[in-house]
Amino acid sequence: MQDVTEQKQSLTESVILIVEDDPINALVIEDLLRGLYQTKMVDSGEKALSVCESEPPDLILLDVMMDGISGLETCKVLKSNNFTQHIPIIFITSMHDQDDQNRCWEAGCVDFVSKPVNGVTLRNRIKAHLTLKLQTDLLRRMSFVDGLTGLYNRHLLEEVMVKFTSQVNRTNQPLSIMMIDVDWFKGYNDTYGHLVGDECLKSVANVVKSCLQRPTDMAIRYGGEEFLCLLPDTNEKGVEHIANIMLKSVQNLGIAHKLSEYKVVTISIGVHTVCSSENAALVQTLAKADEALFTAKQMGRNRFSIYTSNN
Ligand code: GH3
Ligand code: MG
Ligand code: MG
Ligand code: MG
Repeated sequence: MQDVTEQKQSLTESVILIVEDDPINALVIEDLLRGLYQTKMVDSGEKALSVCESEPPDLILLDVMMDGISGLETCKVLKSNNFTQHIPIIFITSMHDQDDQNRCWEAGCVDFVSKPVNGVTLRNRIKAHLTLKLQTDLLRRMSFVDGLTGLYNRHLLEEVMVKFTSQVNRTNQPLSIMMIDVDWFKGYNDTYGHLVGDECLKSVANVVKSCLQRPTDMAIRYGGEEFLCLLPDTNEKGVEHIANIMLKSVQNLGIAHKLSEYKVVTISIGVHTVCSSENAALVQTLAKADEALFTAKQMGRNRFSIYTSNN
């Protein structure tokens, strides 16, 4: 999976991973790209796979012949992984035989450049493929944004949950989830009209987003008047703190709501914290946060509740 939550603005911010086991060739290529792109160098397929897993680059220049995992094999592994399959790969090859070239295409590359590398050709090929990659990233990102609130939409949920829950197991750090629902919102629409309701949702969404303090935290519009926040590396104490701030901040917006017990628009929050030992299937995880939300509603709304197995 590619991280659709990060959008590079320009070509010069793009990161190119050079995978080349010959140090002289690697330096020549790096030199050709200096000042145009950010570059990283590794000298084996194994190291390339490891870099791509933790910090996927925007494009890979991949040597075909290497000790250990070959370039072709490295390319196939990257293309079969959801997290890395969107990274364009250009082979750098000294093999000119048609069969060898066919094998490069079959492995999933977008292009190849012959050795010895011609600087102009290399730069132009990279520019063309990176431009396409940035445009595709932008379109993908737009398809994950909710039109009304500007938050992410639920299409993104499945993708990010896979990433976040595997992170829980890898880092042993908890992931906290907040299921947020606007209180008596049907009554709000009935009183003030749907368009005013939409404006209210926008204001609440802005507050929800602004209460998240880390760049890795994420707010999603989950349904009509429901929002979901994902907070990696956050334990129960941390998420309680954020929930309290969020509840106060929404209430402090002071959006009049005649039919509400609190006379202004408020939210209720269901909280669930996923730990590494847990089987964190998306459906069960959300069901737990939802159950906690139900409890918060029953207890009077404008509050949060934390999931416990005897909720
Ligand atoms: P509760 O406190 O139990 O959450 O009560 P509620 O009235 O908020 O709950 P319910 O789920 O019955 O109502 C949700 C309402 O949200 C129904 C619908 O009119 C409104 N709604 C959903 N999506 C939108 C939207 O995009 N815009 C507007 N204006 N209203 C929406
Ligand atoms: Mg080599
Ligand atoms: Mg609802
Ligand atoms: Mg509601």
